Amino acid sequence: MSQDPTKIILTEDEMPRQWYNIQADLSKPMPMPLGLDGQPIKPDDLAKVFPMNIIEQEMSTERWIDIPEPVLEILKLWRPSPLYRAKRLEQALGTPAKIYYKHEGVSPAGSHKPNTAVAQAYYNKEFGIKYLTTETGAGQWGSALAMSCKLIGIECKVFMVRISFDHKPFRKTMMKTWGADCMASPSNLTEIGRKILAEQPDTPGSLGIAISEAIEQAVEREDTRYALGSVLNHVMLHQSIIGLEAKKQFEKIGTYPDVVIGCAGGGSNFAGISFPFLYDKIHGKELRVVATEPEACPTLTRGPYVYDTGDVAKMTPLLAMHSLGHGFIPPAIHAGGLRYHGMAPLVSHVLEEGLIEATALGQTECYEAALLFAHTEGFIPAPETSHAIAQTIREAKQAKEEGKEKVILMNWSGHGLMDLQGYDAYMSGKIEDYPLPEELLQQSLAAVKDHPKI
Ligand SMILES: *Cc1c(COP(=O)(O)O)cnc(C)c1O
Repeated sequence: MSQDPTKIILTEDEMPRQWYNIQADLSKPMPMPLGLDGQPIKPDDLAKVFPMNIIEQEMSTERWIDIPEPVLEILKLWRPSPLYRAKRLEQALGTPAKIYYKHEGVSPAGSHKPNTAVAQAYYNKEFGIKYLTTETGAGQWGSALAMSCKLIGIECKVFMVRISFDHKPFRKTMMKTWGADCMASPSNLTEIGRKILAEQPDTPGSLGIAISEAIEQAVEREDTRYALGSVLNHVMLHQSIIGLEAKKQFEKIGTYPDVVIGCAGGGSNFAGISFPFLYDKIHGKELRVVATEPEACPTLTRGPYVYDTGDVAKMTPLLAMHSLGHGFIPPAIHAGGLRYHGMAPLVSHVLEEGLIEATALGQTECYEAALLFAHTEGFIPAPETSHAIAQTIREAKQAKEEGKEKVILMNWSGHGLMDLQGYDAYMSGKIEDYPLPEELLQQSLAAVKDHPKI
């Protein structure tokens, strides 16, 4: 390998064979998930929603968990993913910093999400499940699961938020191309969907409603379970392959990052790149780790650390997490994948432990960063990814001011080729910043006042 490669590639033989579980290295254990009665939940309480092999993983505190061979075989279609040095972006910024990005946009669905979708489809099939149900907002998770179910050989049903269903016809076509059933939510297939349609026939839908529909369908059939694309511990586990690969790639060039950056919606791509580096930090290594979110949905920076449910209908247990309140209605910002009201309990926990920092950015700064990235590195990032890019640019500019040669690693979570509407809006001057008004936040937080305290 040359001294100064543009991309650092691993062979398939060098792929990690185990996932990393940060639960093994926390100085304080995670607060237990609770039922609505305030009592800790038991594995059996979740048995109708998830298969038992995934529930065991969700609760495991083993540090290393083997990646099943059939999962590895499928991941090899696009993994190991390349680690790029953004030399042309560095030049444009005139920074002494070295910027690296882990390119997760090379997967067939275009983001990091298939890393967990393949594993979840596999464990469900192993458990004898025939159908998986899920929800999707912008469509990235729905398409990742649709593809994975097809490759593994089970059926997939996706409830897509009505407004995205109407506005993102190509994501819907991707899911159908991979053989999934995709319907607008609310639908008349579920009790909750019919109830909402009767009350508000023209509703645009929401993730909260779509989750409730998907869970309702999963629990009423023996051969059906539900899959979630972020937030839960097992999803963070499956995504750790990103950071584990990146560490090997840095080893190859004898470098180590000073700062690791990821955008955070539910927290999975951020956890994926950063948790293997946090292992080093917990064991004495010095580095900064930064999660970046939209200022319109500031879960980590302004949401309190509370017990809250994962959905509107309160079908999920209470999770200890930073939350804006389960009834939070996100403003229509373009980074659709960063609009969830809560944050992964594991990501929330490491913030509480002081292991990571969080920032919130406005969307115009992020689109500006995305364009600079496309103009220098060529790749067009997803609007979610542009938050990580904007934070990276802030760090690189600061390095310039300080005259420091720091090494920055960011997770390039996905491409934006299915999100060009947002780019169009930005380039026609239709994108504005929207810091969440304090009054709206307080209204939304009223919903968690009666929940048990952490
Ligand atoms: C879904 C998505 C995100 C946000 O989800 P996380 O669970 O926080 O990673 C970020 N980037 C892309 C490209 C996505 O598809």
